[in-house]
Amino acid sequence: MIQIKNLTKIYPNGFKALDDVSLYIGREEFVYLVGMSGAGKSTLLNMIFRAEVPTSGEIVIDNFSLSQITDNQIPYLRRNIGVIFQDYKLLPKRTVYENVAFALRVMHYSRSRIHRQVGQVLELVGLQQKGHHLPQELSGGEQQRICIARAIVNNPPILLADEPTGNLDPDTSWEIMQLLNKINARKTTVIVATHSREIVDSMRKRVVALEGGKVVRDQQLGVYS
Ligand code: ADP
Repeated sequence: MIQIKNLTKIYPNGFKALDDVSLYIGREEFVYLVGMSGAGKSTLLNMIFRAEVPTSGEIVIDNFSLSQITDNQIPYLRRNIGVIFQDYKLLPKRTVYENVAFALRVMHYSRSRIHRQVGQVLELVGLQQKGHHLPQELSGGEQQRICIARAIVNNPPILLADEPTGNLDPDTSWEIMQLLNKINARKTTVIVATHSREIVDSMRKRVVALEGGKVVRDQQLGVYS
């Protein structure tokens, strides 16, 4: 579970991006984080994987308070949280396989374990035939699938997605959201920041709406607005 308690973020320039946000997200939930550009969605996601630290308040993940962790514990936290972004952040000169295997190589897993895990996850995202391609040889939707594969290859319990369909056409966006749904069904907590009204309204899930850094709505089976 993710417990967010009275979280406030004021950036060094004095801008308050989050203002006293409290949320409880249970294990295996699927949550859409909606709100206009600048509402604070990325700031909130960034604090969950500790790319940013709060000004006040706290985040507790499975009884593990992020305010208590030391710098050398951060890699362990990040192993439990997969992250995907709007811009794919893939390694352009590495193959699809290598892009996904990279996270496992730094953990010094055996070749056979890496081969097995990467093969399984490429199959899950439907890219088993494309392992030897370079990212630029694939479509935008396929590149986002690589990112999803990379984020979940080590089975993290939590997946954060920041505007994962921001650069994709409606049909491809729909496929990516179906894939996130499938990952959620495999017992992963999924939090998706999105602008896509069509998807939020048709794939009914919990919706948390932010406005000016505050939670203004939190609905089970919600709609975009
Ligand atoms: P969203 O993801 O909903 O578009 P963000 O969390 O990216 O919103 O940004 C919330 C607000 O905080 C925006 O007004 C943005 O300009 C501001 N902001 C984001 N990052 C920084 C930063 N590093 N320094 C100052 N202001 C920032």
